Amino acid sequence: MRIETNCVQAGYTPQNGEPRVLPIVQSTTYKYESSEQMGRLFDLEESGYFYTRLQNPTNDAVAAKIAALEGGVAAMLTSSGQAANFYAVFNICQAGDHVVSASTIYGGTFNLFGVTMKKMGIDVTFVHPDVSAEELNAAFRPNTKCVFAETISNPSLVVLDFDKFVKAAHDHGVPMIVDNTFATPINCRPFEFGVDIVTHSTTKYMDGHATSVGGAIVDSGRFPWLEHADKFPGMTQPDDSYHGLSYAQSFGAGAYITKATVQLMRDLGSIPSPHNAFLLNLGLETLALRVQRHCENAQAVAEMLEKDSRVAWVDYPGLPSGRYYALAQKYMPNGTCGVISFGVKGGREAATKFMDHLKLAAIVTHVADARTCVLHPASTTHRQLNDKQLKEAGVSPDLIRFSVGIENVQDIIEDIQQALAESQKA
Ligand SMILES: *Cc1c(COP(=O)(O)O)cnc(C)c1O
Repeated sequence: MRIETNCVQAGYTPQNGEPRVLPIVQSTTYKYESSEQMGRLFDLEESGYFYTRLQNPTNDAVAAKIAALEGGVAAMLTSSGQAANFYAVFNICQAGDHVVSASTIYGGTFNLFGVTMKKMGIDVTFVHPDVSAEELNAAFRPNTKCVFAETISNPSLVVLDFDKFVKAAHDHGVPMIVDNTFATPINCRPFEFGVDIVTHSTTKYMDGHATSVGGAIVDSGRFPWLEHADKFPGMTQPDDSYHGLSYAQSFGAGAYITKATVQLMRDLGSIPSPHNAFLLNLGLETLALRVQRHCENAQAVAEMLEKDSRVAWVDYPGLPSGRYYALAQKYMPNGTCGVISFGVKGGREAATKFMDHLKLAAIVTHVADARTCVLHPASTTHRQLNDKQLKEAGVSPDLIRFSVGIENVQDIIEDIQQALAESQKA
């Protein structure tokens, strides 16, 4: 099936007489006839539900839909995008290991990698995505276990050069992990460009209505763990907590998601509630429609901003004048995302005035949902970063992150124009 059909139908196929709509299985537990049956589940000898922290039918159906949208073999839902990115990396890294990451990643992920994972003994080297292949290769160490980047970075809108990053990762025998939150599988399916693992903050376009925080990890099933067995003992060596089972040997292409589920989710427990998974599924049903509208509206807003004399600069990967237009055309010819960044003439002060006078667009700590919203990253999401880190993250002090919603575009444009007029008043 094509992607629009998978948005609506993938992941759940009711049998005769069953509900047409994905049911919410709001149960922590599942009943069995004998302890022996349940014991086989605990030993991973049989698959089946026994406790919702590990697996739940509603969550699994939604994960299967996201796997279908990305073209992966398996997926796991998490309670947030933060948990998804942490699990995606921690599933194959441990104390003493090293990660190469794009520097322009989401502020929360930057803190996770640079502060929290550092405390756990995992070192991260940040490189700007635009570095040369030589500089990128120089960031690797013998203990590097993966490379991490975002398809379109939040909020600096850097478009990833997939070919350069995937080649560097594979030349060093490690998987490429990409956070595909902003592009969504509607605009970009990273597995088509050789990426091994995809993550999402489903909180954004996938949910689409700002109702539920959530995340997902999808595996392409293609990374050859056994060919790099020494680098990935957690995937290839016996797991003592499952009587010496090896994930790569027992589960083949399903090894990575199985390990993340039965080991990390078992021990760390960032499971989404089935009710949130149900809401996410409703969002996914209209993802293709909404993403198209977000992109059309954002294109029109970006073109208007570019022509307006009160605007200092505008950055949108869909603008031919943009830094990343060529990469966006190569990897996302149908559209990029609904998020635009720009600066108003008059710097930080004018930016604040502009934001305070918006009426339709609301100031919120969110991005990428149906309602147009706006944020000043330097004073909110990125306020933990010092000036140097801000620069590395591609966030200037006057940057306004404008998330174009799916309202009538003329209404959005008129709101921006009246606020621009106010921003220039003394
Ligand atoms: C929001 C976001 C995250 C974090 O996701 P939460 O759902 O807020 O935990 C990670 N990556 C990107 C690109 C994001 O936009």
